[in-house]
Amino acid sequence: MELLRNKVITEGIVLPGNVLKVDSFLNHQMDPVLMQAIGREFKHRFAEAGVNRILTIESSGIAPGIMTALEMQVPLIFARKQKSLTLTDDIFVETAYSYTKQQSNDITVSKKFIQPGDKVLVIDDFLANGEAAFALARIVGQAGAEVAGIGIVIEKSFQPGADLLTGEGYRLESLVRIAGLEDGGVQFAD
Ligand code: 5GP
Repeated sequence: MELLRNKVITEGIVLPGNVLKVDSFLNHQMDPVLMQAIGREFKHRFAEAGVNRILTIESSGIAPGIMTALEMQVPLIFARKQKSLTLTDDIFVETAYSYTKQQSNDITVSKKFIQPGDKVLVIDDFLANGEAAFALARIVGQAGAEVAGIGIVIEKSFQPGADLLTGEGYRLESLVRIAGLEDGGVQFAD
């Protein structure tokens, strides 16, 4: 995706710990034209997948998730992050280690929003170790639904997440793939 790639080149900032800061267009200030293009691109890539639900995680997954949901005309559900839980009867729970916050979160989705037989597209802003996307996919599995695919805005291909998800058999589509963040710059995988 040329538009996204250009934004990463002109506005992305490489931070220590292999973190790419994109807060001027993706997860703090948001560029609506770019977000609309992201939604259209995911719709195009998953057009034949029979998607009837989109699942993401708060907060940075919500913007690309809702734009994709709008394009595909299906509901968006976002998983909530909570520290620890006592009552878990009416929610699906999985644990994911947060790459940026460096802590484990229980992530939860109300059971009423994903049903057996649903075809769920998982969307997130970044893919690093795959913790967040894999936890979302496991929630889909808990519901007896099917993961129609996983759509990622920015994949850091030099980290283990992409191999983890494809190794688990999921279809992964990433709009931009980054091969490295060396010397303060962004090296693209393609
Ligand atoms: P993973 O669960 O794949 O290890 O990491 C993905 C999650 O961590 C995403 O939901 C995203 O919020 C955050 N994340 C991982 N790497 C980066 C990064 O380089 N930049 C930003 N802004 N967020 C990241």
